[in-house]
Amino acid sequence: MSLKLIRPRYGTFSGGIDLPDEKDATLESPITPIEHLSHLYVPLAPVHTTPAKPIVSIGQRVHQGEKIAQSSGDGQVDIFAPVAGRVSKFCQVILPVNTPASLCQNRDEYIIGWRVSPAIELVDLDEFEPFPSTSSTYDWLAADDISLCERIAEGGLITFNQRTVALANYISAARNAGVDTLIANVMENTPYITSDHRILTERGLEVIGGLSIIARAMKVSNVILAVDHRRTDSYRQAIAPSRLHGIRTIALANKYPIGSTAIIIRVLTRRRVRAEGEGLEVGVAVVDAATCLATYRWVVFGEVPAARVVTVSGPAVKNPANLLIPFGAEVGEVFASAGAEPDCVTIHGSVMTGNEIIKCTTPTGESIPAVVSASTNALLAMDQQSASDDVTPTPCIRCGWCSDSCPFRLNVAALNDDFELGRINSAKRRGCMYCIDCGICSYICPARLPLARRIKLLKLAIVEETARR
Ligand code: SF4
Ligand code: SF4
Repeated sequence: MSLKLIRPRYGTFSGGIDLPDEKDATLESPITPIEHLSHLYVPLAPVHTTPAKPIVSIGQRVHQGEKIAQSSGDGQVDIFAPVAGRVSKFCQVILPVNTPASLCQNRDEYIIGWRVSPAIELVDLDEFEPFPSTSSTYDWLAADDISLCERIAEGGLITFNQRTVALANYISAARNAGVDTLIANVMENTPYITSDHRILTERGLEVIGGLSIIARAMKVSNVILAVDHRRTDSYRQAIAPSRLHGIRTIALANKYPIGSTAIIIRVLTRRRVRAEGEGLEVGVAVVDAATCLATYRWVVFGEVPAARVVTVSGPAVKNPANLLIPFGAEVGEVFASAGAEPDCVTIHGSVMTGNEIIKCTTPTGESIPAVVSASTNALLAMDQQSASDDVTPTPCIRCGWCSDSCPFRLNVAALNDDFELGRINSAKRRGCMYCIDCGICSYICPARLPLARRIKLLKLAIVEETARR
């Protein structure tokens, strides 16, 4: 066997599809702070556990970065004011939720895919100051792993992905699990979204610093920065310094869904993950560029996380952009500022895995708005034609396209039968819980069956069934 053949090879997995890129509108758009927000609804449960307890009163004025709610100590984080303003009222917001277990706790057809969180409304906002600190207040290079863990815990840091958890808890779980590999996943391979790309392009040095801090806190030496092979030219500024910190940069082909946690772990380490988000079980932790940036800003400058970069785009948006948006900004206000058409379909996250933004109200008819949170990497506005959910499904024709393209080679047509016949145990035996909600089966099905949604509901039923035993 030649030496070439035994060298590690990356970038392959079975199934998957090539998606249209559709990123031209924002690929070169620099990160710009959003202007003119009238109010914020700051969520008190960014992590899906007991909400933080407010420590401010109505009418009180708070400054940017001031603590406004105390962690419940239940995996929750302290909450800080993203922008200076006046506390106007206590209210509720909806936040997206994508894990089967979380769906189970919130089972309610009206809000499936979303959960309700208490919030604090801030009005009379001052101008939002992006990245206000310029001088370092903490020498992280001289700090040991325990000191870094303590520092991270103080900052209310969370993971900026769809499974939002306190970063300190994630690091602690990684240490307990004996994780040996840390991946920064910048494989942003769904249409329209460029927020992580812009973060790595414009703030690459800080991303590398944050990744190094997390690696040191986790006590992991095998650290990988995974990027899209088409974009490496944009990341030159970050790639050279990454070598100084012992970080390997690996450029991967962009076949969808390589950006999912389960697939990127499989591609880079050949370890098989039981389900999306369970990488720690196979010794691999995965973070994203936004988490690394927030970690660096807090640890080095003492700047609490207050905002995130959001791609606001889609065919029904007049002014697509990568906006730095404070947590708690109402998505309706963001879409209005981007010139979204009034009758468009709005999506939180990607067109493949995101949640359509719904109108939610309390039993007394009060509106519960959707807001920007740590997991909001994109807000997309689609015209009615692009949003194809209204198409009437027809019976399965057994073409097999769904199984051929499923990255876990699940027998999706049989799972659809299980759904239609209510066969929960059969779905479980077929490996339903391996599904990573990538959405390929729905996208590709010629019968237009809403397969991914049906499998999500099957997973929900399995979780509930297991909990009842
Ligand atoms: S069954 Fe799940 S993992 Fe397979 S293609 Fe459908 S959504 Fe993706
Ligand atoms: S892609 Fe649709 S029609 Fe084809 S086998 Fe799968 S479920 Fe049936």
